[in-house]
Amino acid sequence: MADESPRVPTDRFGDVRFALTTLVLAFVVMAAAVALKSLLLALAHANAGFVIYVPALAVVAWYRGLLGGIAATLIGAAADAALFVPALAILQANVEDLQLRKFGYEPILYDPQFFVPFPDGRSITLWLDEDRNIEEIARFSEADARAYPKYAQFWHEVIDLVEPTLMAPPVPIADLFAMFSGPEAERLLRDLFLMSARDFLDEWFESDQVKAAFTTQAIIGTFAGPSTPGTAYVLGHHSFGVLDGHKEIWAYSKGGMGRITEAMAASAEHFGAVVRTGAGVRRVLVEGGRAVGVETDAGDTIRARVVASNLDPKQTFLKLVPHDAVPKEFLESVRRIRTRGAALKFNAALDSLPHFTAKPGAPRPHHNGTIEIIPSVDYVERAYDEAKYGAFSSHPFIESQFQSALDPSVAPPGKHTMSSFVQYAPTELKGTTWDAFKPRAAEIVLDTIEAYAPNIRRIVRQWQILSPVDMERIVGLTGGNIFQGDITPDQIFSFRPVPGWANYRMPVPGLYLCGSATHPGGGVVGAPGYNAAHVILEDLKGTT
Ligand SMILES: Cc1cc2nc3c(=O)[nH]c(=O)nc-3n(C[C@H](O)[C@H](O)[C@H](O)COP(=O)(O)OP(=O)(O)OC[C@H]3O[C@@H](n4cnc5c(N)ncnc54)[C@H](O)[C@@H]3O)c2cc1C
Repeated sequence: MADESPRVPTDRFGDVRFALTTLVLAFVVMAAAVALKSLLLALAHANAGFVIYVPALAVVAWYRGLLGGIAATLIGAAADAALFVPALAILQANVEDLQLRKFGYEPILYDPQFFVPFPDGRSITLWLDEDRNIEEIARFSEADARAYPKYAQFWHEVIDLVEPTLMAPPVPIADLFAMFSGPEAERLLRDLFLMSARDFLDEWFESDQVKAAFTTQAIIGTFAGPSTPGTAYVLGHHSFGVLDGHKEIWAYSKGGMGRITEAMAASAEHFGAVVRTGAGVRRVLVEGGRAVGVETDAGDTIRARVVASNLDPKQTFLKLVPHDAVPKEFLESVRRIRTRGAALKFNAALDSLPHFTAKPGAPRPHHNGTIEIIPSVDYVERAYDEAKYGAFSSHPFIESQFQSALDPSVAPPGKHTMSSFVQYAPTELKGTTWDAFKPRAAEIVLDTIEAYAPNIRRIVRQWQILSPVDMERIVGLTGGNIFQGDITPDQIFSFRPVPGWANYRMPVPGLYLCGSATHPGGGVVGAPGYNAAHVILEDLKGTT
């Protein structure tokens, strides 16, 4: 397993690690002692739109009757499972605190993690076992095979260093940068925060195929190309997360992502919460400069001591909070958050699994993991170039999962699901609309997959596209940005959601943000809610 490889004996980043842990420990220890923890944690994690805290009663309002926000499982019209979000990296603390397994959450670890087929019929498969990856990479470059263990070790060290900072409010970015002193640490700072994925990977590898295989996680969901500075950090962000003691891995949630949020809702109810669905919030009530509750679409008023919103700040402050309740400069910062959509979802119900030219036959182990269509780094850069000027990429980067290959519960007997993330799909299309363009987009997606899996058109029984505009319509995700705002270095740590307001408390007392727009950002990890819950508990101390 990736996590079992020996660590480098010297702690090259020891000083940085020490400084970081000293800062976050104070917070974590304080938070662990708080009695109300379980109740508020259960509430504040739970992908709900709003968490309202009233003494002795907690109410969670869900939007449009769809439980789980982005991490929901939508069922297609013909009873074929159409997965919205296929993989996850969930932080272990949340699973334990919320007793999610007891309420139905069951992760399925998959191996291999990635399969990257190339047009010449070759492929790279990336396994949990790093020794197998060395063999895969050696087929493209001996030098890269030698570099790979050091590359993997680099990320193990970075994750070890950064992960403790995720379950606490962000360290101020100036303090963070000041901790990186000495040549090794400075190089890490440069690599992580300032470099593009292309430049970063160029320093490690020579084979374009190997670089392409690693580029995928640097741009996924982000409106940026591999040459955009800061994408090296995005690569790291996608390695965070722990699952059953394994690090830097992706897994399925048995039955679909919706099972996680359903488990969260059940857990919240177990701890005393009331979960309401179909109760959209149309206004946050502010009286005497303080948030005192919400008003629902149905006109109900729920008064509360604390209002926590996991909608993104644009939805929260530009639509629901009275504009005169917050400073003008704050609203301007909120408007400036980059929330452009980068990708669409192409979900399909399949009669059988596709046959890839690079590894014929089905089912095969590569169907268990994530399949990446990214023939070269230039290919994806060109795909981005088109989107920059308002077009859907004519040759998109596609990341697909066939969860049914490992988890038959998500499809009817003998049938399969394909959940594809297709990039780049800008929020606004020049000269057309997403609704009008969907059939053409579907043709482009199928043409692209067909070049690698020639039987794809014969096995697709039904497809569905969720454009960035749909993502905004269905779950209120501004621009369809999958992380509630890009996770590039200018929008992370104390810059998230906006500089000056990174500790979950908002300019209206009593109002908190607790979703992906806050530190440490997007992903089904539960960390923003966990951190926000502790801040809320701290503020509530002594106020009963
Ligand atoms: C297509 C896609 C693929 C992704 N893939 C992955 C992946 O594979 N792995 C991974 O870890 N992460 C993935 N992510 C990111 C991850 O899903 C999100 O970061 C995470 O689910 C966000 O959770 P959240 O609680 O912050 O916000 P959300 O899930 O967005 O929750 C916001 C909630 O607010 C509700 N709401 C909106 N407006 C109102 C209103 N007026 N009143 C009341 N409620 C309202 C919404 O319905 C929703 O329930 C993906 C995201 C997308 C969009």
